[in-house]
Amino acid sequence: MKNISFPRTALISASALLAGIILLCSCSQITKNTGRNTSGGEKQNGAETAAVTTTEVTTSAATTATDDTQPYVDGDNTQIYIPDSTPYKKITLDGVKDHHFIADDFCYIESEKCFIFLDKDIDLPGDFVVNVEAIITEIENQLGISSCPDSYNYCPLSDNSSYYGGINPWKGWHTGNKIPIFLMVDRKSEGLISCALSDETIFVIYELFSEDFWNSVPDYKNNPWRRMDAVDYGTIAHELTHTITGRNCDLTDILTEGIAEYTSRTVIDALADNYPSIGEYNAQRFLYDFGVPESVNADNAERIFIEDYNQLSHVERGAQYDYGRCLFNYLNNEYGADYFSRLNSYINGNGLHYSYGNYDEALVTDYATALKELFGDDIFTKFGDWCVKNNQLQYY
Ligand SMILES: [Zn+2]
Repeated sequence: MKNISFPRTALISASALLAGIILLCSCSQITKNTGRNTSGGEKQNGAETAAVTTTEVTTSAATTATDDTQPYVDGDNTQIYIPDSTPYKKITLDGVKDHHFIADDFCYIESEKCFIFLDKDIDLPGDFVVNVEAIITEIENQLGISSCPDSYNYCPLSDNSSYYGGINPWKGWHTGNKIPIFLMVDRKSEGLISCALSDETIFVIYELFSEDFWNSVPDYKNNPWRRMDAVDYGTIAHELTHTITGRNCDLTDILTEGIAEYTSRTVIDALADNYPSIGEYNAQRFLYDFGVPESVNADNAERIFIEDYNQLSHVERGAQYDYGRCLFNYLNNEYGADYFSRLNSYINGNGLHYSYGNYDEALVTDYATALKELFGDDIFTKFGDWCVKNNQLQYY
């Protein structure tokens, strides 16, 4: 186990929880699923600094550009549109883990299920895209849902110029039904964190900052513990789960963070043996429990689910992650691998649209009813008993 800073983890988690509430979907179009803005960013587990090699990988000019006089076509929300005038290169990685591509300008990668937009000073290992694609596919397989459902209304890229010092390199772009993934550098060490919407995922991952950049910022250089010597694929899996589930259905806060936290663990477990870099991360990751303010048992499990920890301040809502993770762990164990696809179908079939971060007791009660109808009226009492028996959610 590498050195982990508890205060750092707690601080990042707290700010992530807060930021998760603030972020809003930038899509200006009417969407089919309202209030679907899942978000949350989360832990950057600090560890010892990495030794980074700097072997250049390949670059090539953009090849999928279309005429930039052709506007985004209304009515076809899966059409890819790349302005012909873009000065930014399309790059490809060679898949070799020990090769690195360091971005000296904005650039992008197009792969099967996503577009990856690189900020300047991002350092990508050659197997990064292979790993991200594997994570997306594993999330789809485990949850029984698609990362690009037909029911979702795909929007042009949102304006993330606040990350880029006021400019928007990707103005007018549309990635079709592929997930836009933004790899950002926190240039002034302002505490920017990874987060996700149903439209896109934004990663601020220290392990992907180039070595030269890292050493040029005293706050980073003097605190090497802030990054591991493995890419944080756990956060990547967590945030991508938000985007993928958010494209399929709306969930309460507990369910939103719970499925992301649970799936990030099971996905990493499933891929670690076959993807060396994910395996390296798996060997170093620190599985953090935030703690809950009240031990969960058969008598209070349903009440706590319905309260959704809304009475806690944002910085204390790590309890949502823990309760939700344990609940999905229980559902998967006790009710079969289709636990999430069944819930997804029920939510859409019954028109449930919860808005993350906006507590609504009547609506969250409908989600409790969904769980009862799907898994039995005694789902919460049985879950509470399971928590006590397995010593889960028993800590303050
Ligand atoms: Zn989250």
